[in-house]
Amino acid sequence: MLPRPKHDISRKRISRNTLQVLYRLHEAGHDVFIVGGGVRDLLLGRSPKDFDIATSAHPEEIKALFRNSRIIGRRFRLVHVFYGREIIEIATFRGKGEDSEQCKTSGMILRDNVYGTQEDDAWRRDFTVNALYYNIADFSVIDYCGGLHDLSERKIRLIGDVRKRFHEDPVRMLRAVRLAVKLGFEIEKDTREPIPELAGLIQNVPPARLFHELNKLLMEGYASQVFPELRKFGLFAVMFPYTEKYLEDENSIYYKLIEIALKQTDLRLEQGRSLNPAFLLAVLLWPIVQDNLVHFQAEGMHLYPALSAAIRKVLDDQRVHVSMPQRHAIMMREIWNLQYRLQSSCNPKAKKLITNPRYRAAYDFLELRYQAGEPLESVYIWWTEFAAGSKDQREAMVKASLKDGARKGRKRRKKKPRKPKDNPEVSSDE
Ligand code: ATP
Ligand code: MG
Repeated sequence: MLPRPKHDISRKRISRNTLQVLYRLHEAGHDVFIVGGGVRDLLLGRSPKDFDIATSAHPEEIKALFRNSRIIGRRFRLVHVFYGREIIEIATFRGKGEDSEQCKTSGMILRDNVYGTQEDDAWRRDFTVNALYYNIADFSVIDYCGGLHDLSERKIRLIGDVRKRFHEDPVRMLRAVRLAVKLGFEIEKDTREPIPELAGLIQNVPPARLFHELNKLLMEGYASQVFPELRKFGLFAVMFPYTEKYLEDENSIYYKLIEIALKQTDLRLEQGRSLNPAFLLAVLLWPIVQDNLVHFQAEGMHLYPALSAAIRKVLDDQRVHVSMPQRHAIMMREIWNLQYRLQSSCNPKAKKLITNPRYRAAYDFLELRYQAGEPLESVYIWWTEFAAGSKDQREAMVKASLKDGARKGRKRRKKKPRKPKDNPEVSSDE
């Protein structure tokens, strides 16, 4: 236990609504604490993302204290208290056996085991540094699992039997990587060592939960550091097995494409600009789209039907590993489709294309590909100038490209009069 004078957590750094919740539960006679990332980050002098609250009060008791609250969850019930946009999550201390095999195989919730003491609650958490409790009664910090020591040594250590706990919930492997990168900590040796061997367990995690975790890994401002770590542990390969095949050569265009995209994602977050996970997913799966397209075209399909088939296959294959919401899949499809429309050698539809709601994302994607080394210089310059041009300039550019396209078409026909037309819509752009 660390008494108030021995740490510098100040109540000023805790949100007003969180404090209000803490005081109300405390005044009603319950034990109540901030726990998890909130305490950890306060002790490190960082600004917590949110504050999780743990208490001895049961959900019904909590609900009775807050008019603006709702009980959520079925297996383990939590209470959400709403203050405008801020939601404070309150969890009753969890008991020992809630995750045990006995519960899972019998499919029954052993009621007595659902809730427990504060100490039970601590041992059920993932890492020692996440199992620290800030006590509103005396402003002390309570530590059952050695979290304060690990915090000072900057170590991520899983609580309890490492293998057992990774088996119990394989997402903990991803959380270890995420937290280590985010905090600049090291994953402690015993926690780290079994990860490559156990990485495959990630496959057992429901794809939707994995997508949620993936978002946290890539959309919190340190994606470019997380990516090589995930690869090092074999975790990336489990989530993106098809992409992994293209990543052997770190000097390849695809590797660069991903690297640049991740850096830009981090930068955009730093600048407070908007981000869509679909864009990054489109980058991660791009090499596979291109290869599948070649495959379908080799079977005799025309460009756009082949592209549709390629995209469908990529999305279906990927969904088995990490599922994505349908709206993301739609956006990815649009970005990929637009790549080929932007690459078209004559652009009679350029004026319409530029008003497409996905034009901006598709242009950014094209820019990335160009930066990574795909031979797209003339296409990229054309669209950059077109977007910047006045109405008249745009008109002139479209006319010129139509003439150019027609001339190229004539040349092609002259050269190879008998050969079937290869796709006139796509310029090779050498
Ligand atoms: P962040 O700063 O990203 O919010 P966090 O540690 O607060 O990090 P949350 O997902 O908000 O992460 O979880 C809150 C707390 O719940 C954790 O600190 C940890 O104590 C506990 N927890 C979360 N996920 C798990 C898990 N998979 N297994 C055990 N305990 C977990
Ligand atoms: Mg948190």
